[in-house]
Order: sequence, then structure tokens, then C-alpha cells
Amino acid sequence: MGKTSSWQTLPCNECGRIVEKVGESATGVICSYCTMRKALAIDASIAKEHVPSIGPRGWHLRQVFVDVNLNVYHKGVEQPKLKGSLPVTKVKKAKAKTVAERIEAKRLREEKKQAKLIKLAKKREAAKNKKNKK
Ligand SMILES: [Zn+2]
Repeated sequence: MGKTSSWQTLPCNECGRIVEKVGESATGVICSYCTMRKALAIDASIAKEHVPSIGPRGWHLRQVFVDVNLNVYHKGVEQPKLKGSLPVTKVKKAKAKTVAERIEAKRLREEKKQAKLIKLAKKREAAKNKKNKK
């Protein structure tokens, strides 16, 4: 009986993955993957609990944000002393674009890209001509 007998191999309670070097007295084990998964799940639930969605996406990144209850936030940090001293931050709702608008926006983007490429090509052409003249 050497030291090796103090370890055992057990399947993970959660996923059945074989976990080696489990303490002799352990009756069950959770593999590192499941541990990580659980930790992440807990993290996510904490984040959900502690960061109430007060304003629009990214409100906490704003220098100043005032919610509907006139609570003032500086970069997401509540400033109780300033409560009620500022008007509620108006949130612009992103207007849903119609299909036609989306297509038009895409066309404009493509056109811009094209123009840029043409400009670049002309520049190259000019540089080439200059070289040839020498
Ligand atoms: Zn597992």
C-alpha cells in the first residue's frame, strides 16, 4: 500500500467525466468543467441581480444619467446628493427602420465603399504614370 492508494478515480456527478486523483474519502466529485460552468452561472445571476437595468443600453457609460425617479448617476454610480437636481435624461428610442430604409442605407454604404476604392485606384494609377514618365 503506497501513496497511490489514497487517490481514487470517480466519474463527475454532473456530466460523468472521469476525474482522477480524487481524495480517498470522497464519495462524489464534480469535474473542473462543471465547477467552472457553475461558477459562471452564479456570476451571471449575481450580475443580473446587482445591475438593474435602469436606463437604455449603455446608460452606465454616460457621464450623467438621470432615471425616471430623478436619481442622478455619474458613469453608472448613483449620486444621492444630486437627486432631483437634474431633469430626467430623455431616452431616444431607436426607430425601427423599414426594409426600404435598410436597403437604402446599405446601398449608400456600398456606394461610399466603391467611391473609396475608385479613388484609391486612381491614385495608384497616377503614381504609376508618374513613375513611367521618369
Ligand atoms: Zn462534469
